[in-house]
Amino acid sequence: MQEKEISQAVIRRMPRYYRYLGELLEDGVERISSNDLSRRMNVTASQIRQDLNNFGGFGQQGYGYNVKYLYEEIGKILGLNQQHNIIVIGVGNLGQALANYVKFEKLGFVIIGLFDVNPALEGMSVRGIKVRMLDELETFCAEHRVDIATLTMPKEKADAIANQLVDLGIHAIWNFAHVDLKLIDRDVVVENVHLSDSLMQLSYNIVKNRSARENDN
Ligand code: ATP
Repeated sequence: MQEKEISQAVIRRMPRYYRYLGELLEDGVERISSNDLSRRMNVTASQIRQDLNNFGGFGQQGYGYNVKYLYEEIGKILGLNQQHNIIVIGVGNLGQALANYVKFEKLGFVIIGLFDVNPALEGMSVRGIKVRMLDELETFCAEHRVDIATLTMPKEKADAIANQLVDLGIHAIWNFAHVDLKLIDRDVVVENVHLSDSLMQLSYNIVKNRSARENDN
């Protein structure tokens, strides 16, 4: 497939296509037209055609999309055809919840190490994965291929840890710490997941919705 720059907006929509196509596959659907997919996904058929054309267009006029092929190709585009080894830094409630969530593994994201600074957690395991102390990080990274580091530790130390992780050769960070990381001129990709931002967005819509209801009454 030809390499060209795809906009982040298109990439952000890909996981949703992947999820819907996975469901279609499970339901035994072999082909789908952009119109049918558009109805299911509640996006316009032209958006679907445009998005998928970015990748060379998987559809055939009058035939629709081959669901399995499209699912596999989008999986490849998203890098899901390879295993991603993950470590988690900060094994508090959120770190443990992520470590306990098995479904990531089905997508190829495998948690291989958990790190914390709290000695009370040393020796503990989450889903069979041992909690190690942070001073073991360097040795661990030298001995294992780590593709992604997840930050679920307090924001105050997040920048320092993130820089250390890049020094150790980790080039991807899944950041749950409540801070926008400052990793200037570093060879790293960061995906910020600020759960409270999402809740605040919901809160805004609750207030808006409520006042619209009150105005209707
Ligand atoms: P959570 O926020 O996940 O519910 P918590 O209430 O214990 O957990 P935090 O203070 O955010 O809250 O700490 C999360 C985890 O990060 C804790 O287990 C803590 O020991 C760990 N932690 C704190 N500082 C560091 C650090 N510098 N490196 C790694 N882990 C750390």
